[in-house]
Amino acid sequence: MINDTSLSVASIQAARERLGAIIHRTPLLSSTALSEMAGGELRFKGEHLQRTGSFKIRGALNRLSQIQGASGVVTASSGNHGQAVAWAARHFGMPAHVVVPTMAPAIKVHAAEAFGATIERCGTRSRERLERAQSYAREHDYVFVPPYDDIAVMSGQGTIGLEMLEDWPEVDVVLVPIGGGGLISGIATAIKETSPRVRVIGVEPQGAAKAWASRRAGHHVALDETDSIADGLISLSLGDLTYPIVEHYVDDLVTVTEEQILQAFWLLLTRAKIVAEPSGAVTTAYALNAPALRGQRVIALISGGNVDPDIMRQLPTS
Ligand SMILES: *Cc1c(COP(=O)(O)O)cnc(C)c1O
Repeated sequence: MINDTSLSVASIQAARERLGAIIHRTPLLSSTALSEMAGGELRFKGEHLQRTGSFKIRGALNRLSQIQGASGVVTASSGNHGQAVAWAARHFGMPAHVVVPTMAPAIKVHAAEAFGATIERCGTRSRERLERAQSYAREHDYVFVPPYDDIAVMSGQGTIGLEMLEDWPEVDVVLVPIGGGGLISGIATAIKETSPRVRVIGVEPQGAAKAWASRRAGHHVALDETDSIADGLISLSLGDLTYPIVEHYVDDLVTVTEEQILQAFWLLLTRAKIVAEPSGAVTTAYALNAPALRGQRVIALISGGNVDPDIMRQLPTS
């Protein structure tokens, strides 16, 4: 079996063959009301309807398909990546171990547990959990699966870009949320290496704008702290692999406020009947507040739909 050694449209096409019938081909959804509010033609790539409720299954399956026969896999994530690795491991018949924060809410770890992963609670800082997961991997001869800084993971996420272009070749602009940057690295590579005229814009919360800050500074910046309701986007920095790809292929980096994220969440729910988690709503938040996109054909990626029920208490009442 050939392992991916660099990210390219070829590695993304290979990922697509591997993912084949295992994942859902998610739809491009549309809403007249939201398009009118945005002042252009707005469509939504519905990864909230993907298996495990987010796109992360794409990267996890592509990574695990290349290590079949390994004794097991381990990762450090209480969120969508942990669930995706657990699901993919069960699919390939391997054990999975997921390291989560000591205080992780039960509801978050439940999904990974339900897919058969063993859960270990460890520490409050992501660095501690990362070290624990890596030492667990050495002790048990398991493979550590990173959430974004990995060629096979990025190639898997990139398959979304191929689907977008196939389903709407006339698209002008694609909006993608940025956490550690694996998602946008894959999508931007797929799009720029096949249809360079399509603009790729990365969206971050103002409280976690590491890619934006790096571009402005002209070098790879790590923030001291980040905070946002969009909990899939709060990493302190891009990865060593993702940073140069973002710099090379992403046309523009923009930010949205917490209020804009909540407003987008609410409008997606009530007008388009789309259940987006806050991390998946940032792209719509930007589309609804960006005069520069008026008159354009825009795809907003809804990257996931695993909503913490607590968000309902923070919503506007009107
Ligand atoms: C992980 C995640 C992201 C960000 O992906 P990166 O590869 O870390 O940039 C965005 N949205 C959702 C729902 C996620 O789970």
